[in-house]
Amino acid sequence: MGAYHPECPDRLTAIGDRLIASGLDAYLQHHTAPAATREQLSRVHDDAYLDQIEAASPEAGLHYLDPDTAMCPHSLSAARHAAGAVVLGVDLVMSGRSASAFCAVRPPGHHAESRRAMGFCLYNSVAVGVAHALAEHEVERVAVVDFDVHHGNGTEEIFAGDDRVLMVSTFQHPLYPYSGTRPLGSNMVNVPLAPGSGSEAFRAAVMDKWLPALDEHRPQLIVISAGFDAHREDPLANLEFVEADYAWVTRQLIGVAARHGERRIVSSLEGGYGLSALARSVSEHVRELVAG
Ligand SMILES: [Zn+2]
Repeated sequence: MGAYHPECPDRLTAIGDRLIASGLDAYLQHHTAPAATREQLSRVHDDAYLDQIEAASPEAGLHYLDPDTAMCPHSLSAARHAAGAVVLGVDLVMSGRSASAFCAVRPPGHHAESRRAMGFCLYNSVAVGVAHALAEHEVERVAVVDFDVHHGNGTEEIFAGDDRVLMVSTFQHPLYPYSGTRPLGSNMVNVPLAPGSGSEAFRAAVMDKWLPALDEHRPQLIVISAGFDAHREDPLANLEFVEADYAWVTRQLIGVAARHGERRIVSSLEGGYGLSALARSVSEHVRELVAG
């Protein structure tokens, strides 16, 4: 994304280092993410958009898609592999080879709409994974859970009105991208949180709004847009979550998955820009997934 941009390679290094330092890495199976295929991407993105973004990929330097979102010569490939990671994660948990999967990927995806890149996102990786599960595995009900501090406008736009998919989310409002207060479909459970909201408001949203909707939907697979930028140390937003909140919500989601989906959870990294807070939060999230 360019020098000084918060969506930087150090994010993944910080996560990897923390997983090793915490001792968790020894309990993980690592997989290399394959590139998503054109067919997989076109389940959620328009062909014209896929052509357009391929044509926009620069030979050198940066090409700005919007003031926040740039492509370098390697961005397109990275974004294809990020989406492919979620596809592989879905294959691993649906086949029973893994109980759960966490995709440590960049760039994030949840702002990418069917026809538009924005907010650091090129392809909507989580949406690509969900569409893959619906098309290739015998799954009829999926839940998308998005606790990134920013509203997942892309995922909402892609799945609004598709009753096979329930999306539950929390996000700071007002904040970029300033959407989400009026859900686009009855399958969207959007919970905006005022700046300054912390653990108590988040946990109340999960208990009162998310869990009843999730239990009614009975998802056979849960896919998490795991952004950690609602952490109190994050430089991009003003919510006050702490690591323990991410551990807690992960346990709640494991409970839902165990009740309805044989504990199938695929989680994919979205935001999180304070390197230490990001690494500590991912570590707590992954620890709970491993403990199952
Ligand atoms: Zn975010």
